Amino acid sequence: MTSRARHVAVIGLGAAGLVAARELRREGHTVVAFGREKQLGGLWVYTDQIEPDSLSLDPNRTIVHSSIYQSLRTNLPRECMGYSDFPFITRPGNGESRDPRRYPDHREVMMYLQDFAKEFEIEEMVRFETEVVGVEQATENGGKWIVRFKSSGGVSGEEIFDAVVVCNGHFTEPRVAHIPGIDSWPGKQIHSHNYRIPDPFKDKVVIVIGSQSSGTDISSDIATMAKEVHMSSKAVASDTYIARTSHKNLRIHSTISRACEDGSVMFQNGRVVYADVIVHCTGYKYHFPFLETNGYVTVEDNRVGPLYKHVFPPALAPGLSFIGLPFMGLQFFTFEMQSKWVASVLSGRVKLPSEDKMMKDATAFYAKLEALGIPKRYTHFLTDPQGNPMLGQFNPQDAVLTSQSDYFNWIAEQCGCSSIERWRERQYNIAIKKVFFGGENYRDRWEDNQLIEEVYREFAKLKP
Ligand code: FAD
Repeated sequence: MTSRARHVAVIGLGAAGLVAARELRREGHTVVAFGREKQLGGLWVYTDQIEPDSLSLDPNRTIVHSSIYQSLRTNLPRECMGYSDFPFITRPGNGESRDPRRYPDHREVMMYLQDFAKEFEIEEMVRFETEVVGVEQATENGGKWIVRFKSSGGVSGEEIFDAVVVCNGHFTEPRVAHIPGIDSWPGKQIHSHNYRIPDPFKDKVVIVIGSQSSGTDISSDIATMAKEVHMSSKAVASDTYIARTSHKNLRIHSTISRACEDGSVMFQNGRVVYADVIVHCTGYKYHFPFLETNGYVTVEDNRVGPLYKHVFPPALAPGLSFIGLPFMGLQFFTFEMQSKWVASVLSGRVKLPSEDKMMKDATAFYAKLEALGIPKRYTHFLTDPQGNPMLGQFNPQDAVLTSQSDYFNWIAEQCGCSSIERWRERQYNIAIKKVFFGGENYRDRWEDNQLIEEVYREFAKLKP
């Protein structure tokens, strides 16, 4: 099979876009990587700035890309979080202090991404402060792609590419909880996208909706300042009302049943709280405002589809692809594997099945989810061999979702590259349970020291 170099646009300069650019260039393609911000790092570029509309519902608002808060530390140990051949170890900074902890703060992740970009000379391919405002397939030019962009200086332009790889992230467009009666509730609401520090919550009564990583972190953060924090979780029984041991002003409730005009909020457990603020830690939506596909790709209840193995829309492959849609799991490693696959498909080294076969594969996957009553919004949820606690209890039905190890093995087989290392798989399986069941201080306590030693021995074998 002949290998061909393509001219490829990468949209996004986060952890996905950076590794996509690297893999595409390694495969011989020419790459232009577009980024809306003036620096790389995507989500990990912390800013104090928040959006003017605290729930981020106004479609015409000025977008602030990042969703991270000042106290954020990683929820995975650094060893398994990094890319395969560029370990996430502490490197000497340019005069900047580094965070050597196993679960470091967000600045350390940002510096890791900067180190990665420097090592692989990614900036040569980058156009900073250039927002992609339109992507569509050209009617002429043999199916090439038109990318329209606007620079921060207001200069607009367009360029033709053989392919477009979408890496725009999916933690910027908030999803907000539906609460009966909320329209007449007089308090303030914000989405975690606009949460940075606890200070504005001093002496307030705050309800935090959501009990996953952000909900748990943000409730603890706010509890250091607020009068009371009430966390509402859908993962607990309806009569739940428990104290969190770490903070005496923090309670866990079941879901909210109603908000009222007098400022009260009722929970399913029968408790009533007069709250000043509701913080929605309720996740995000996939959003591609720049993409025009004539209806070939849609987002329905947070399923981006139809897509072959979460990456290629059958009717538009291989010219259009998505990196980074899967959530949970080993994010950076997923981006890397998907990028290798896209790069090798574009060069022709690896072949995709026919459009019809890809479509049948996607449809069969969706039908299996539907048959088991798994909502569309879990389509891109990567699980592990024992299932994943996010859907509730460990559940044998989760086996129908994409197992991340199987997914990596499958891509590796396609591309002829290495799959996930055994140590990374083991470490992730330990780490993900700690996120859910490890208690509040899970980032500072662990027992897998032997495994860590093994991992560092593996790192030492990598080329410097
Ligand atoms: P992003 O980092 O969001 O990057 C997207 C890029 O696209 C940005 O550069 C943006 O400017 C650009 N862009 C978007 N639209 C346009 C446009 N129209 N034109 C040009 N550029 C555009 N993962 C972990 O592995 N460990 C963790 O501890 C962890 N913690 C997290 C904590 C929080 C609060 C959140 C929200 C997520 C966390 N994640 C974590 C998951 C995180 O999403 C991934 O780690 C990863 O950084 C996402 O990378 P990305 O490149 O897909 O998206």
